Amino acid sequence: MNTENIRKIAIYGKGGIGKSTTTSNLSAALAKKGYRVMQIGCDPKADSTKNLMGGKRIPTVLEQIKAKGEELTLNDIVFEGFGGVLCVESGGPTPGVGCAGRGIISAFEKLEELEAFETYKPDIVIYDVLGDVVCGGFAMPIRGGYAKDVYVVSSGEMMSLYAANNIASAIRNFGKRGYARLRGLVLNAKNIENEREIVEKAVQEIGTQIVCYVPRSSEIQEAENQGGTVFEFLTDSVMQGVYNELADRILADA
Ligand code: ADP
Ligand code: MG
Repeated sequence: MNTENIRKIAIYGKGGIGKSTTTSNLSAALAKKGYRVMQIGCDPKADSTKNLMGGKRIPTVLEQIKAKGEELTLNDIVFEGFGGVLCVESGGPTPGVGCAGRGIISAFEKLEELEAFETYKPDIVIYDVLGDVVCGGFAMPIRGGYAKDVYVVSSGEMMSLYAANNIASAIRNFGKRGYARLRGLVLNAKNIENEREIVEKAVQEIGTQIVCYVPRSSEIQEAENQGGTVFEFLTDSVMQGVYNELADRILADA
């Protein structure tokens, strides 16, 4: 199978900014549209896919490598969640011990070795990546041709825009080796004053654009409290429309 045809995208951003919320709702939206999606959590927090798995954390690739060694199979690390989304968490080392990005490198190597893409044949793979520091493992998705399109989640808060700028720089620096492109910024609103204006100015400076405005909404907590995305638990949901729009936008970028 030619895995080159799989659409591979990476969602970066500062810790706590809403990457996993955005990514899991995006995956759910794409799954509802009929796409086979694989979501790979690349954050030592390992909670990227929890809202696709009924609120439960799945064992990480790093944990399973330790537990199963040579016996490890895809069934130990790939779990089917809401809408048939294939969920993977890279995991990370014990805090203070070893490089946080190591889990990502191990996970990528293991998924390749076990031919995960050939086996599950996803249409779209989405990497949900912590972007506070884009070194080592955290740069993996944008190096060596893993993800072609990168989106950054940010609010108007300085620290998240600072992270967005760092990610943009990393893509430029690795761009020659890989082929990742920064497609834009998802504005996940924190409702700070003049937020749109601040972010519009920032994307101009970074040399990118806002691809979607995601409002702050209590629907997120409402669904999250039940362990899922807005697609699983809500009806008459404004946020379903927002994430459908994001999904359409990303599909149009292909
Ligand atoms: P990250 O993956 O970047 O660390 P999360 O996706 O876990 O961040 O988001 C952190 C918290 O912010 C989540 O618990 C979620 O409830 C909340 N959140 C994210 N986006 C929104 C939003 N658009 N509206 C309301 N709450 C949100
Ligand atoms: Mg997260």
